Amino acid sequence: MSTLKTWSVRDRRELEAWARYHGTAVTIAEESWDAVTYRAEAVCEDGTRYRCLYREEFPPPIALKRRANTYTVALFHRSAGMFCYHVREVTPRLSGSNLVDPARLAELVAAARVQRKRREVCGATVENLATYTVGRTYAAHRLSDWRT
Ligand SMILES: [Zn+2]
Repeated sequence: MSTLKTWSVRDRRELEAWARYHGTAVTIAEESWDAVTYRAEAVCEDGTRYRCLYREEFPPPIALKRRANTYTVALFHRSAGMFCYHVREVTPRLSGSNLVDPARLAELVAAARVQRKRREVCGATVENLATYTVGRTYAAHRLSDWRT
């Protein structure tokens, strides 16, 4: 049995220093429209796993913009003669230019995430997944009360 010890730090630099000390990398554990959680893990000689987390919240103007560009993407593919559905909520990382349709980008990100997590389970791949629906997760009229 391996034990997992998790704790959070208040500073991104603290997490990076910890990761460097243990020769491990900082990865993104979770990302939503309002925050990103970074993670670093190290395994001790006795098998104990240590997981250090840092949650960074976006400043309100950026969070608001990300919230408006959050999409719920429903995808499907055929698996053993049946349809298999997957739903992902995606906030695409938009660059300065508007060359890419954010909804299309959300579809691509969602398909990549489904492939990464589900390929072994149900055979979902970027190639065989088709979009069923894609739409903004948060309706525009609700933006005024986004803090509630
Ligand atoms: Zn599937």
